[in-house]
Amino acid sequence: MAITRFAPSPTGYLHIGGLRTALYSYLWAKKTGGEFKLRIEDTDTQRNNEDAVRAILEAFEWVGMPSDCEIEYQSKRTDIYKKYIAQLLEEGKAYKCYMSREELDALRASQEAAKQNPRYDGTWRPEDGKILPPIPEGIEPVIRIKAPLEGTIEFEDGVKGLMKFDANQVDDFVIARANGMPIYNFVVAIDDHLMGMTDVLRGDDHLSNTPKQIVIYNALGFDVPKFYHMPMINNPQGKKLSKRDGAMDVMQYKEDGYLPEALLNFLVRLGWSNGDQEIFSMDEMLELFDPNNINKSASAYNAEKLLWLNAHYIKNVSNDRLANELEYFGCIIHGHDKKEMLLDLCKERAQTLIELKDAIENILNTPTEYEAKGSKKFVKEGTIEMLQNYLSVLETNKDSLHIAPDYEAITKPFIEENGLKFPQLFQPIRIALTGGTQAPSVYDIEAVLGFDEVKTRIEAAIAVNFGKEA
Ligand code: GLU
Repeated sequence: MAITRFAPSPTGYLHIGGLRTALYSYLWAKKTGGEFKLRIEDTDTQRNNEDAVRAILEAFEWVGMPSDCEIEYQSKRTDIYKKYIAQLLEEGKAYKCYMSREELDALRASQEAAKQNPRYDGTWRPEDGKILPPIPEGIEPVIRIKAPLEGTIEFEDGVKGLMKFDANQVDDFVIARANGMPIYNFVVAIDDHLMGMTDVLRGDDHLSNTPKQIVIYNALGFDVPKFYHMPMINNPQGKKLSKRDGAMDVMQYKEDGYLPEALLNFLVRLGWSNGDQEIFSMDEMLELFDPNNINKSASAYNAEKLLWLNAHYIKNVSNDRLANELEYFGCIIHGHDKKEMLLDLCKERAQTLIELKDAIENILNTPTEYEAKGSKKFVKEGTIEMLQNYLSVLETNKDSLHIAPDYEAITKPFIEENGLKFPQLFQPIRIALTGGTQAPSVYDIEAVLGFDEVKTRIEAAIAVNFGKEA
């Protein structure tokens, strides 16, 4: 049973890299009958803002991955962190350091000059028999952890395998600032322990934090969770994903007409696979996903694949669901008597909900103008008369016209008897019904609109000669 978490810092919106981390964490928890928890890492008050928190929570609601616990906010847990700092001080596992900023700068400069890695030199680190400098006046100390001086810090990463860091790569880093506020790597370790984490999945940009967090776990006698550090998502050129490539706010995908299941399906494949399977329902993801199979190399964002998946889900979710989703875009078709027909027809070609909305409106809205190029090309001498004849044939059979094949059964013989070519009749009808020549099958549109509306629209187009100059 895995307890996992997603722990965003609310410095901005939730982007898709973050959502992928959350998805993997969510899947692993749910698959193992565990829990998925959200924690907002909002200790950096200068960079955090409430709007970002709201945006992140909104995104989680949209994709449907709720937290199994009340959401934790680090900003509300300072007292807990301070308690552990006090404990470590008391146990001699952390200590006060009175080095001034100038001294630290001088230390760093001399290390850089000697081509050494900048690290704390242990001036204030208490050791048996060591005499510490006299405590200077007017300096509030920071608190440093007593990190191991030798040996290695190791862990078995679920993605990267055995990770080994020389202990001397981790110095006695600061765990609380002079104002008493605890710092990032300290609070993450405390929270992950207190929230019961067994498995921590995160981007490999956090890899260098892990040895520091392990030092904290060890100092406090906490069990170290299993870590999975995931490679980044790159753009198709193998570079860091930029906004233009799709590294945008998750909610922008909603605005752009993507279904959340398409986005999750897209993300699960960015860094994990099951043979060459591309389509994964949530149930299949839960059945098949295993973080131990996360790819070791970075994956590439592919906008076309996302569109393709979205088209798949638009075709395959229920029409009621589509009608619900379309309401967000101001397209209300619940209650329309031809709702099913209309959606069946339009969803076949739509890659996004916006394209679906446009296709629906293209049929439902009475045209206010007619495409000049199409009218010029397809409305010729005899066209008007042909349309009038066609309408009267339809009218005679009006009571038998319900679905597309009914219109076809009347229209095909009409075309043959009049020696017409299909576009001769169909293109002017498309223009009259929708204003342009790009529209689905004429029979389908006719069936959706019904005879009376077909007649009204064709007569309206005839009345203005399809907008052509007289
Ligand atoms: N708050 C960190 C971030 O937003 C994540 C910390 C973690 O996963 O350990 O990048």
